[in-house]
Amino acid sequence: MVKGFYHSKLTFGTMDGPGIRYVLFLAGCRMGCAFCHNPDTWAQGQQLITAEEVLQEAEDYRQFYDSSGGGITVSGGEPLLQPEFVAELLAKAKARGWHTVIDTCGLAGKEAVMQVLPYVDRVLFSLKGSTEGSYHDLTKAKRKDILANLRLIAARKPVTLRYVLIPGYTDGKDSLAALIGIVHALPQTVEVEVLPYHTMGIVKWDELGWDYTLRDVPEPSKGEVDSFRQSLRQAGIRLAATEN
Ligand code: SF4
Repeated sequence: MVKGFYHSKLTFGTMDGPGIRYVLFLAGCRMGCAFCHNPDTWAQGQQLITAEEVLQEAEDYRQFYDSSGGGITVSGGEPLLQPEFVAELLAKAKARGWHTVIDTCGLAGKEAVMQVLPYVDRVLFSLKGSTEGSYHDLTKAKRKDILANLRLIAARKPVTLRYVLIPGYTDGKDSLAALIGIVHALPQTVEVEVLPYHTMGIVKWDELGWDYTLRDVPEPSKGEVDSFRQSLRQAGIRLAATEN
């Protein structure tokens, strides 16, 4: 039995997929997002858990998950860095009738994606920008690698595309046009969720003694977020239910 390195667990999650969910945050991420609000999940750490332990705990609250249309979400960190564990966990979850979601940034090998995908009902795909420049400035990944995995996933599973609106980085006209282009080029319709950038993670960077390079970047106003969402709607893009 494969064990998974994990950071934390949430028994009543409402932000990571439909309904009320059991959310397992795995440890380990190589994306290096400059705006990450959970930098303490980057290292793999020491905490280990088995699929059976996760499912046993989730079963205790199952009536809440089922009655709300929820289920189990594996988030991170980056879940696709531990494909053996996630595939085993979600295969067992599917066999017991759970609705399953993964929350990924898409930085993983094609093999890892294909290993996990058969057991996933929906993918929350966090796009860290839409232009090559934003990926260069904000992450350690290349846009082309991320988009290749996004296309792979969107051809096979329902996707919610999560996009963080960061003033000066991902909110410009070039970013908007690139995002619209990405969405329209996907093999199936996806829904988009626009998440306003926030500064709540800075305290964790300070605790780790790391330099937070976006310290002077303001959070977007409600008007700016609404306007970006409206532009997506006008381009014929479906926003996630949380946006309407
Ligand atoms: S992918 Fe998620 S966990 Fe990893 S650095 Fe980016 S925001 Fe943080």
